[in-house]
Amino acid sequence: MTQEELFKKLIAHCKEYGFIFPSSEIYDGLGAVYDYGQNGVELKNNIKRYWWDSMVKLHENIVGIDAAIFMHPKTWEASGHVAAFNDPLIDNKDSKKRYRADVLIEDWMAKQDEKIQKEVDKARKRFGEAFDEAQYRATSPRVLDIAAKRDAVHERFVKALDENDLTELRQIILDCEVVCPISGTRNWTDVRQFNLMFSTQMGSTAEGASTIYLRPETAQGIFVNFLNVQKTGRMKLPFGIAQIGKAFRNEIVARQFIFRMREFEQMEMQFFVQPGTEMKWWNEWKNTRMAWHRALGFGDENYRFHDHDKLAHYANAATDIEFNFPFGFKEVEGIHSRTDFDLGRHQEYSGKKIQYFDPERGENYVPYVVETSIGVDRMFLQIMSAAYCEERLENGEERVVLRIPACLAPTKVAVMPLVKKDGLPELAQSIIDDLKFDFNVAYDEKDSIGKRYRRQDAVGTPFCITVDHQSLEDGTVTVRHRDSMQQERIAISTLHQMVEQATSFRPLYKKIKE
Ligand code: ATP
Repeated sequence: MTQEELFKKLIAHCKEYGFIFPSSEIYDGLGAVYDYGQNGVELKNNIKRYWWDSMVKLHENIVGIDAAIFMHPKTWEASGHVAAFNDPLIDNKDSKKRYRADVLIEDWMAKQDEKIQKEVDKARKRFGEAFDEAQYRATSPRVLDIAAKRDAVHERFVKALDENDLTELRQIILDCEVVCPISGTRNWTDVRQFNLMFSTQMGSTAEGASTIYLRPETAQGIFVNFLNVQKTGRMKLPFGIAQIGKAFRNEIVARQFIFRMREFEQMEMQFFVQPGTEMKWWNEWKNTRMAWHRALGFGDENYRFHDHDKLAHYANAATDIEFNFPFGFKEVEGIHSRTDFDLGRHQEYSGKKIQYFDPERGENYVPYVVETSIGVDRMFLQIMSAAYCEERLENGEERVVLRIPACLAPTKVAVMPLVKKDGLPELAQSIIDDLKFDFNVAYDEKDSIGKRYRRQDAVGTPFCITVDHQSLEDGTVTVRHRDSMQQERIAISTLHQMVEQATSFRPLYKKIKE
């Protein structure tokens, strides 16, 4: 199965099993907007809990807020979004399809890296054990040639972005002979800037109404509340403010399912520090955030850092954590050193002093900020892509299993009476009545036990509990484990403790804190 096929299957699976539906589907959907179904919402809530607790519970100096989506329009002038929250777009005149010019070039560069990797893999096969990869990369004329072209384009690309040179961006696309995947032609329009913010009107009369924006990031809600939280919480630097909430961007190209949406959710934490200490904190947060991802056990090799080619107008250091999605390594989270840009600008635009009195230094100053910013939906996609697994069983049957970490699984336990009579459903119900106060529990009495197991595997339920006639006699049940499919007989009285231990977030939090 190719990665593309895998991705298609994953999307179909998300829909078939109540994780994600296209928005307003009965009207044929709305571009790049999605709804989370009965299983999706549970997984999403668990992701948010994993993030929130690892920020707010595990750090005494981080607190949370929940700011409004609508903000005073001046916010977005101060933050620079009105002037500069743009993406460079380009159209193919034959297919009439629209693309992000920067993404076309980035994809071209990624293809060159793939070509080099293929050469290396071929050579490894040819030379066997004696193969020296570093030497091959440094000496193979073919590899050197591809790398030189790639590096030259990279240099031009970074310069063009820095100088906002749209003509040069187009020229790079032409020089690299990038074709539209739909029409296969190189018939490109000019590159234009496109502002990604959605706007709307607030107020009832046309004259009195003012243009406001749907927030394109949650961060600004934190910055404008800096003093409120610092003063009322008596916070001392360094300290952080965390927030989870919706953000909106009128993305030019939105073709990768929930990877790029027009309405999405962010989990952002702004960490306020003394000026001059921001690099230390930036490095620290890079490590902490990478540990958070890796603790899920999807394989360390599936994550990497990617430093930004072009720093945003507010940043003095920026890196992304990328995950190996079915469509390649792509950003899930950004860790940015935002300097004193945001607080400084809000101070300037609001005319209010936004400063911190440092008792140690005996002076007032505008703090610096290190931000960690992750999309809930991209995290969701990361988990689904890593967890989705098709397996052939010993009896020749196939199963699809979602190996979602137990603490994140939408349903923790499914309870199944072997037959629908003899008091077995009643005993199953009494087990549910005990577990349901603490865990999401499902009841299933339809079809064969094998089919019921398959249904639970497909939504990632870690435990299936079967109640049979022996249960009535000795108070034991069969517990079947999702991943190993092993079964064991245990006492009903020990079920609660077993599930509690197996689905706890604790081991993950301990790993992050190591
Ligand atoms: P990209 O380069 O992919 O457009 P970005 O660098 O603009 O992303 P940030 O502004 O750093 O993204 O936003 C922080 C996080 O918010 C991203 O790492 C991502 O997880 C999430 N995010 C941003 N845009 C979207 C979107 N359109 N749909 C879903 N998640 C998004």
